[in-house]
Amino acid sequence: MDQTLEFASPLLPFVDARKAFRHEQTVEGYVPLQALKNLSAMLTDSEGRAHAVLMFRFDQDRRRRIDGELQATVNVQCQRCLEPVQITLSERFELAVVSTEAMAKDLPASLDPWLSDEETLNPADIVEEQLILCMPIVSTHQQCNAAIMQEVLEKGVGIEHNDQAEEKQASSPFSVLATLKNKPESH
Ligand SMILES: [Zn+2]
Repeated sequence: MDQTLEFASPLLPFVDARKAFRHEQTVEGYVPLQALKNLSAMLTDSEGRAHAVLMFRFDQDRRRRIDGELQATVNVQCQRCLEPVQITLSERFELAVVSTEAMAKDLPASLDPWLSDEETLNPADIVEEQLILCMPIVSTHQQCNAAIMQEVLEKGVGIEHNDQAEEKQASSPFSVLATLKNKPESH
């Protein structure tokens, strides 16, 4: 994992889109997770902060680019024991601001679209969407993951669970792969 991103001051609530790209503005700071409602809905609590850097510029193709990096430590539900498990979301992103869906489709694969034709951009919205995109499909505690791996070894891929929350995922071998790939930090 990259270095820890941590800032003492909050992210700007708004960026002037008419100036930010031209002036190659860099915005960095934290957002309380409580302010990120859609992300919080996916978590077991909304304590803590997301930290992010966003760099605005025009690229050589005159695209309005927002490149950045973010990090947040969040609590999600372990898909095996259903207790909270702490995970760190950490991601670099390269966005191009587009005003239409058609422009979004024309972007090279390396760029993700950020759809906006507003004169102001809200950095927290961008951070929230990127955090949601990097949420793992399945999260487990280390010991729960070890138990799942043990079951895979013993029974093969078709894992059976008692918990109703796991029923849908248990039937898919992909969910098992996702579980194995996911590396929770502690507990
Ligand atoms: Zn667990």
